Amino acid sequence: MALPRRLALVTAPRPGEGFGSWTDRMAWLNRCSPGVMADLLGLELRGSSPEVRPRVCGVRADDGVRRAVCAATGVAGGAVDRMHLAVFDPGPLSAAAVLSVGETAARASAGREWVEVSGSRACPRCLLASGGVWQLWWKLSCAGVCPVHGVVLLDRCPSCGCVLRWGGTRPRVLPVAWSRPPTVCASSVGGRPCPQWLPLARVRPASASVGEFQRRWLEIAYGRGRPAVGGVEVSAAEWFAAFRACVLLLRLGLPGVLGRLHGVPGWCGQALLEERAERGPYGRRFGWGPASASAAAAFLIVVMPLLEAADARELSGRVRPLARAAIEAGCFGARPLARLEVPEVFARAVTSHAPARRWVKTPW
Ligand SMILES: [Zn+2]
Ligand SMILES: [Zn+2]
Repeated sequence: MALPRRLALVTAPRPGEGFGSWTDRMAWLNRCSPGVMADLLGLELRGSSPEVRPRVCGVRADDGVRRAVCAATGVAGGAVDRMHLAVFDPGPLSAAAVLSVGETAARASAGREWVEVSGSRACPRCLLASGGVWQLWWKLSCAGVCPVHGVVLLDRCPSCGCVLRWGGTRPRVLPVAWSRPPTVCASSVGGRPCPQWLPLARVRPASASVGEFQRRWLEIAYGRGRPAVGGVEVSAAEWFAAFRACVLLLRLGLPGVLGRLHGVPGWCGQALLEERAERGPYGRRFGWGPASASAAAAFLIVVMPLLEAADARELSGRVRPLARAAIEAGCFGARPLARLEVPEVFARAVTSHAPARRWVKTPW
């Protein structure tokens, strides 16, 4: 494969930036469309149609991508890797699973791996301050709140209603016909780019405590924290399995579980109920990640203090409302947590609340 020619204008990737964000900013700097920039970077995303329609891009860089990007821009392989979702593996996602699902499913992996490969959430204030740098973690389904600005992330464009960066009525197509300012929605609506300037989008403030939960969640996601469940040190993969298990237990126990939770703000219960309408409990999307930034924030508020319990006894006490509500709803029979490899300390905390009768099964 011939390597691409060196581009005259290059902007360096910023800390935490996603690959699609950087290539968009490269395109904007070079006054071309994202589709043309993908060609100039040698990404080879074009298939049989003239459109640039990447099936999965930005998940894991291979040698070809690293070499081509380095030849075109001088950006080193390590920096390219850091812009790909694989930095969250193992932890909130498995890159191999994202790639395998992405080959077949229309919405690559939003279900199984709790990540939006093509679309993203966003903090309008971060976009304003950075001139349009999109953080990689905004693609994770558990992204709810900006810890820097203390606001709930934006799910959709307030003007056209499309999921941000998803592409609008021509989903997952990198525009070839128009350039895309990094701070503008630019989803395709009726064949034209949506002109909404995203830093102007109205944001909802979030409490300092949920911002702090999101910050600690991210530390573990980036492999920087020392994850623990009920005072027992666990691997990042186990920690996220326990986090997911709590999300599923919460969904199973709605709405009854809300009466058992103490100190949870009213909007939080509302967000969980609205989320349930979209995600389950019996629908196909029951096991998907949080459906909105508000739902993600609500799950953080309930689940983080639970996992951060000081010891196994405290963990058992905090798991109790979730486990009891799910058991009373008769939901354990279908083994709703079957695929989750949770740490032993968490499994014991949940099963300790199942009454010792033969017909009450464990959720695994
Ligand atoms: Zn922000
Ligand atoms: Zn829009």
